[in-house]
Amino acid sequence: MSSTIRILDELTINQIAAGEVIENPASVVKEIVENSIDAGATEIHVDISCGGRQLIRISDNGCGMGKDDALLCLERHATSKIRQADDLEALLTMGFRGEALSSIAAVSKLTLMTAPRENKSEGTLVIAEGGRLLKCSPIARAPGTTIEVKSLFFNVPVRKKFQHSPTHDAHEILRVISLLALAHPNIRFELISDQVAVLVAPAETTGNLMQQLRQRTNAVLGEAFLDQMVPLEVSDENCQVVGLISLPAHSRANRTGQSLFINRRAINSPLVSFAVRDGYSTALPSNRYPACVLHLQLSPSLIDVNVHPQKREVRLRQEQQLRALLRQGVSRALNGGETPAPCPAPFNLPDMAERRPLNFSMPISFSPQPIPAPDHDLFRASPPTPQVAFAIPGYLLLDPNSCRHLLNAKEGLCLIDQRAAHHRILSERLSNSSLQAAEVQPLLLPVTIEVTPIEMARIREMLPELARLGIDIQEFGPHTINVQAIPTELEGVDIATWLSELSQELHQDYGAQTSRSERQKRLAGAFSRKLVSRTKKMSREQANQLVAQLFACENPYRCPLGKPTVLWIEPEFLAKYAQG
Ligand code: ADP
Ligand code: MG
Repeated sequence: MSSTIRILDELTINQIAAGEVIENPASVVKEIVENSIDAGATEIHVDISCGGRQLIRISDNGCGMGKDDALLCLERHATSKIRQADDLEALLTMGFRGEALSSIAAVSKLTLMTAPRENKSEGTLVIAEGGRLLKCSPIARAPGTTIEVKSLFFNVPVRKKFQHSPTHDAHEILRVISLLALAHPNIRFELISDQVAVLVAPAETTGNLMQQLRQRTNAVLGEAFLDQMVPLEVSDENCQVVGLISLPAHSRANRTGQSLFINRRAINSPLVSFAVRDGYSTALPSNRYPACVLHLQLSPSLIDVNVHPQKREVRLRQEQQLRALLRQGVSRALNGGETPAPCPAPFNLPDMAERRPLNFSMPISFSPQPIPAPDHDLFRASPPTPQVAFAIPGYLLLDPNSCRHLLNAKEGLCLIDQRAAHHRILSERLSNSSLQAAEVQPLLLPVTIEVTPIEMARIREMLPELARLGIDIQEFGPHTINVQAIPTELEGVDIATWLSELSQELHQDYGAQTSRSERQKRLAGAFSRKLVSRTKKMSREQANQLVAQLFACENPYRCPLGKPTVLWIEPEFLAKYAQG
């Protein structure tokens, strides 16, 4: 019997290790640009094509490498960086020390061109393919480093299969560069994607961090974003906070507008997010979140070792103190720099927010049930479309005579949940191109909206879907879009705010990879929420149209999230209710 155990060769080991460090083009870009930052570069140029899968080329004017280092840096565990265990950088990259370049080289065709800044020796060209060294020769070049990564994952078919669309990958790369650019305002960043400059941020070298950050925010997130912000500056002996937070009127539906940096590293910190939110107190409703760009400078002793490298999370010590500092900073920033007069609190009141609100209204136990999808064979000779008896905000009551077939001979009343119905209709409209597209209302004056590059990328990605839903958008320069038409139902909606919220919602779980079908579902969901007013009544004509569209769906009885669209109110319930 021959042995099935084989010893993996070095190349295979590298390819396996690579899979752990290198997930997608964006992680390649992040690793290489972080190396450029470590090398002291003041200019970093990123050029990608086809979302980075065809080509990623990153050039810097950093310290560069001599020939020996140029060869060595592609080896596993080659690092010139000695790191202290309590250094945040070490905590966040632990396990990746000296592995990034060798991992990238293992799964791509890599060209390295570099020349050291010191002692002006000549440059070196190294070419590797799938981790194998193909060439090493001298070249002439200015000090600094250029790394070219071509055909990423060409030798890892499994990984290739799980790749996203080039647009999605380009958008992730833009997000990575945006965060790095916000973390380092003094470095010039340029991102070119398929020959289009998507981000150009000149080096901000004059003024203090606040001034630099304002300029950088303008370049990365746009003027409209900056206009919604007020400066925040606060510090104590352990922590210095500098940044921008949004005015209460410009809150968001989720946390995606928040960029947090601790010691210049982009971080997710629920603690910091909550503390900032807390500082707004009652200025924000509980389901709204502020946007912010915040730099925290913390002494390393406050950062806990208990961290999650992938999720960019750190645990912080002395939470109370940090929370109080942030809360105070936020409320002062919102009050135009004045510390608001403290509320007299003679007694130690329990936290009001933690108390449950009193319930003044008598609960009515109203329990409509989902109806089971009727047996299809019974309705071969297509059943009549149910008619609406009357509309109440959020719901439609069907005419009992027109919907008997839905109840399978049972008695009772049928209600349509408008929001669930819209959700179903819209999501089928998105996934099935044979369905009728939305009725469109061309705008007399197209609305011009300023968007951030990230919003632009997200919106651009969903243009075909938005068009199917009746929103006609044209790009109009790197920061501007033009809305030419909207669906009739959206008349009167603040389209600028809504689009910006939509772009956040489509990528809600920051960092996670959201598939296209998932985004379509979210788009349909966000859209249906906008279309249904819980206070406005539909006209009978609109209502009947909605019902007709619902029953034209392939799957009319549930929304894409599984919520019933048609509810059944039992006769027993009606009888009980009538008796009081
Ligand atoms: P690490 O960053 O953890 O040291 P990497 O694999 O990312 O590991 O890089 C390996 C080494 O290659 C670095 O320690 C550094 O010495 C060198 N290096 C990589 N990129 C550059 C660059 N752009 N400029 C100068 N040196 C670089
Ligand atoms: Mg590195």
